[in-house]
Amino acid sequence: MWIVTPKGRRQRKTVYGKTRPEVHDKWLRLHEHARRGPMVPVSPRLRDFLERWLEETVRPTLSPATTSNYEMFSRLYIVPDLGDRKLDKLMVRDVQVWVNTLRVRCQCCFQGKDAARPEPQCCAVGACCHEAASDWTVHQAWRVLRGALTQAMREELVFRNVAALARAGTHAAVEEDAGVDRRRGAAVPHVGARGW
Ligand SMILES: [Zn+2]
Ligand SMILES: [Zn+2]
Repeated sequence: MWIVTPKGRRQRKTVYGKTRPEVHDKWLRLHEHARRGPMVPVSPRLRDFLERWLEETVRPTLSPATTSNYEMFSRLYIVPDLGDRKLDKLMVRDVQVWVNTLRVRCQCCFQGKDAARPEPQCCAVGACCHEAASDWTVHQAWRVLRGALTQAMREELVFRNVAALARAGTHAAVEEDAGVDRRRGAAVPHVGARGW
């Protein structure tokens, strides 16, 4: 059946069920909902949305290197903290707290890097090396999240980009946004290159 999203666009919604009466029952409830006003499709969790975004939007349009880059930022930096959140429940403050956490958290401890070494030499033996993510890394992670949420907006799953509204900027990061990335030059894929 067709539903009307809050932006007034029509969207198809399919009803599934094991038996005919079950399907009919669901259909009736959906119809009742639709009659009361615009409804939003069920919001996915960020981890599922990121996975789909990487497969459907990033992989077909960007280079393999960029794709694996995004996957890495998604897996190591976004999903562990925000992956369980439903898209429509993700707030600007969540993103801000996440960015702030990334700036100070020891990635060696968090990812178990030292523990994975044949001979642990720092975090796993009580001598944390305090390997916090660099400004550049934090900024890239934030840009990947922003890119994913831009797509979520296009799909009308969210109505604002909470990552874009949060502050992830450092002086260097702001320059980079303007296309000035002296440290890594052209080797760095720009999330912003396609208007993200
Ligand atoms: Zn360490
Ligand atoms: Zn550590």
